[in-house]
Amino acid sequence: MSTVLFVALASIGTALATGLGALPLIAPRGFDRRWLGIAGGVTGGIMLAAAFRLISEGIAVGPYRTIAGILVGALLIWFAERFVGGDEEQYFADMAQGGRKAFLVLGIMTLHSFAEGLGIGVSFGGRPGFGLFVALAIAVHNIPEGIAISLVTVPKGMPVWKAALYSVFSSLPQPLIAVPAYLFVTVARPFLPVGLGIAAGAMIWMVMAEILPDALCETDTRAVALAGTIAAAVMVLLQVLLRV
Ligand SMILES: [Zn+2]
Repeated sequence: MSTVLFVALASIGTALATGLGALPLIAPRGFDRRWLGIAGGVTGGIMLAAAFRLISEGIAVGPYRTIAGILVGALLIWFAERFVGGDEEQYFADMAQGGRKAFLVLGIMTLHSFAEGLGIGVSFGGRPGFGLFVALAIAVHNIPEGIAISLVTVPKGMPVWKAALYSVFSSLPQPLIAVPAYLFVTVARPFLPVGLGIAAGAMIWMVMAEILPDALCETDTRAVALAGTIAAAVMVLLQVLLRV
């Protein structure tokens, strides 16, 4: 029972971290979008390292179930994206202006946060320390997402505090998915490696389809690649030092 509460708190914490992304918008001289590209590279590196950490955790329990999970994760996002489609930033801009397309926005956010919530939930199903590590990685990754949302909404006249609120709102599917996912793999143990694989597959997809293409729009390839590679190395260093 106490772990359920911990999973809920950790995933609410990752959602709140998204709100920190609005803070750079307070800067009087504005926010240099090149930093968004660098942040995207960092995020990509963190998410790839976290995804492969989920995979190695799954392989230790059930290698073939993990591999099947990776493919299921990719398929899930494939079908979900065909169903929802469209440009995330545009929807946030629309939402800031008049609350139109709110359902689509909700759909896209749920889709994107699905893998992250699942990743947090199933990794707590493995070991609590491991779950916390994955939650921290996702919390750091959420900050640039908050920046991206704030960069679309604040110039359109939204106050920074409200942009922070919208950013947190965009990550709310994370706690909503993390808790049931945790409960499910605790009850249905054989699904733990499948769940780890699904989360990892969906995260790899997200890096390829969203995070890196977005980052490359903001700054040059070498900066993104350098930021991503260093972030991945730091993640592995943390795994070694913290033994998670
Ligand atoms: Zn995300």
